[in-house]
Amino acid sequence: MAIEPKRLPIQSYIWESLEATLKAESRRLIRDIAKTLGKDEGELARQIGTPNFSAYFVDMTEPTNERFECTAYSLKGPVQKPCRRPVIFGTTKCAAHSHSQQRPSAALPVYRLLKYYDEDESEEKQVYLNPATNQILDRDTLKHIGLWDSERKILTLFLPE
Ligand SMILES: [Zn+2]
Repeated sequence: MAIEPKRLPIQSYIWESLEATLKAESRRLIRDIAKTLGKDEGELARQIGTPNFSAYFVDMTEPTNERFECTAYSLKGPVQKPCRRPVIFGTTKCAAHSHSQQRPSAALPVYRLLKYYDEDESEEKQVYLNPATNQILDRDTLKHIGLWDSERKILTLFLPE
């Protein structure tokens, strides 16, 4: 599928601020490189030349833009799930996961996040559901705390120990 560049209106002061930040960071980077190489900063800047690039803006909230998200699985606490950080166009993994596995480990059980409203405590709560066993697990401890009746859509929580 071809990429269709999307025009996003941006306030001019935001763009000017971003551009100024990028220029300042470029100058700082050139200064650091020049210092490391023991070369003249101005000479190095001339050798690098004028930057010439195009920037695309991607609305990451648009569901069809999932291909711009890192597909590597990472362990967050007890849960392994897709990283979903933005990636560089043409790649599938972010810098942090360039050597990570693309698929989740088949040895680990698959959980779904289940949200429910606790009327006694008047707040929304989240638990994990193991769809293979219908077991409900505590989100932090992964302790078996209840059962899910998938046909009748009924959540049963055990009394706390
Ligand atoms: Zn990643």
